[in-house]
Amino acid sequence: MVDFQVDKREAVGLINRPQTYVFDLDGVIYRGNEPQPHASETVAHLRHRGNKVFFYTNNATRSRKDYQDKLQGMDIQCQPEEIMTSAYATALFLRESGKTRIQAYVVGEAGLIQELESADVEVLRNGSVGKVDYVIAGLDRQFNYDKLTNAQQAILAGAKFIATNRDATFPIEEGVVIPGGGAIVSAIETASGQTPFVIGKPETYALEKIIKIAGGSSELTVVVGDRLETDILVGNRVGAHTVMVTTGISTREDAETAPLELKPEIIIDDLIELLNISWSEQ
Ligand SMILES: [Mg+2]
Repeated sequence: MVDFQVDKREAVGLINRPQTYVFDLDGVIYRGNEPQPHASETVAHLRHRGNKVFFYTNNATRSRKDYQDKLQGMDIQCQPEEIMTSAYATALFLRESGKTRIQAYVVGEAGLIQELESADVEVLRNGSVGKVDYVIAGLDRQFNYDKLTNAQQAILAGAKFIATNRDATFPIEEGVVIPGGGAIVSAIETASGQTPFVIGKPETYALEKIIKIAGGSSELTVVVGDRLETDILVGNRVGAHTVMVTTGISTREDAETAPLELKPEIIIDDLIELLNISWSEQ
């Protein structure tokens, strides 16, 4: 039985208690369509205690609205404003570039295309590409040699190369991992000889945006993730608290033997343990 009460030691340190929780999705809140144990209760209890909760995924295949629907299907209520994806962050980044009439060749799925089009980016997907401002690449499960060629040609003709993320894999149901966006980005990098500018984790752009939207500070933010080299690294980079849950990619042993910048502050096996962490003692 888990004790949901704030314990006395924690109450003493209330001033230092985190106010914003940023959860990764794949491997943390769910695997594929399977919710992780206690995901819904944990989020509800954190909110009940007055915390703000955000979800931040490197997965660029879906829009924020899609994630909202998926989370609601798992009994986790949230607004699109509480969801950050590397696709939406890419759209924000381009919008902030101040450039209008941006044309981009996109290797990616519907979620990425939708977010870019909402930011008034003209998205080219098919045929020969010619000159464009950007090549934007993320996970694309229809990736093929023609798309690789188009991306390569556009970059060689001068397009800037942006990657939504470089995750090598992502976890799905029953412990299986499948190739992630990073595998596709690397193919384009190899063919074009250009290293991409990366938007998602472990780069700090989108996490800093979330902390700003939350109106909080990084010291009072907790990043909860399953992957050391993205979730935990980005949390450490911005100076947030970091918690690794062992239900996804990285193992307890990975975390314990990781170099300092990849080390989580706390390792848990079940999300519900978040409710009993005595932050004042950390
Ligand atoms: Mg993950």
